[in-house]
Amino acid sequence: MKPKILISSCLGFAKCRYNGDIVNFELLEMMKEYIDFIPICPEVEIGLTIPRDSLRIVKNDDEYRLIQPSTKIDFTNEMKAYAEKISKEIKDIDGIILKGRSPSCGIKDVKVYSGISNSAVVEKTKGIFAKEILDKYYYLPTEEEGRLLNLEIREHFFTKLFVLYDYKNIKKENSMKALIDFHSNNKYLYFAYDQTQKNKLGQIVANQNKKPLYELFNEYFEELIKLFSKLPSKKNYINSYLHIFGYFSKDISKNEREFLLDLIEKYRNNQIEKTTIANVLKSYVIKYNIDYLLNQRIFSPFPDGLVSLIDSSIKH
Ligand code: SF4
Repeated sequence: MKPKILISSCLGFAKCRYNGDIVNFELLEMMKEYIDFIPICPEVEIGLTIPRDSLRIVKNDDEYRLIQPSTKIDFTNEMKAYAEKISKEIKDIDGIILKGRSPSCGIKDVKVYSGISNSAVVEKTKGIFAKEILDKYYYLPTEEEGRLLNLEIREHFFTKLFVLYDYKNIKKENSMKALIDFHSNNKYLYFAYDQTQKNKLGQIVANQNKKPLYELFNEYFEELIKLFSKLPSKKNYINSYLHIFGYFSKDISKNEREFLLDLIEKYRNNQIEKTTIANVLKSYVIKYNIDYLLNQRIFSPFPDGLVSLIDSSIKH
């Protein structure tokens, strides 16, 4: 079983762009081994042809309309109806990747025009299809293909995807032990994201008020989503690494200590990636057989095969 991602078809699956093109989404092949994809092209699904005249979003009396300027046909209602239909059919998805800047699929920065032709761009928004899907699946990891080329954004996306996917699976076990183990193995990853949220999750698992299990699972999920609502800071990651380092710092030599602290400084100064530190820390955890840390997810938050140093450095 793998997580399932809803994806715009033109990102490597079909030549369905308005001009008959396909987009080269360079991460796709690497991702296919670990993720199942559900490709869809909303514009084709509502009956448009390939190729077709392009669409645009036009602001009309404070409403966003999806218009084909060459024919002046308004496809907004068809697109919204299709989004509603498909979101009922694909209930079990774990993430979403959509084509950036498309008036249908873009999740942000889609141009909004003041009129059908010869008109200015007045603002930017979400694509008409994307807005409907994102309103419904606000809690899922969602990105545009271009932003995923940024290392930090991609690592966050994969981390959230695989943590939420595993959570969905342990929820099916419906056992307190499964929830406790899950929480315990994620502790240092949570610490790296948001210490306040980590503590809230810990309180839910402690269950002082003896709440029923289904209530705990639901509350835990709500707080987990909040924890992953923004990218983790480097400062928090370093704090989390230093806590792990504390478990064996007295057992290693002065030279080893200095080497590790120097690595952490290099990470702070953008000279190395965090996987380097995670691997060195893990090697000591294995050497000293520190049970509590062996399965900490912070060492490998998503499958190692998805680790790649591709980095556009564009975050917009
Ligand atoms: S951006 Fe969306 S609507 Fe446009 S071609 Fe790609 S999948 Fe189809």
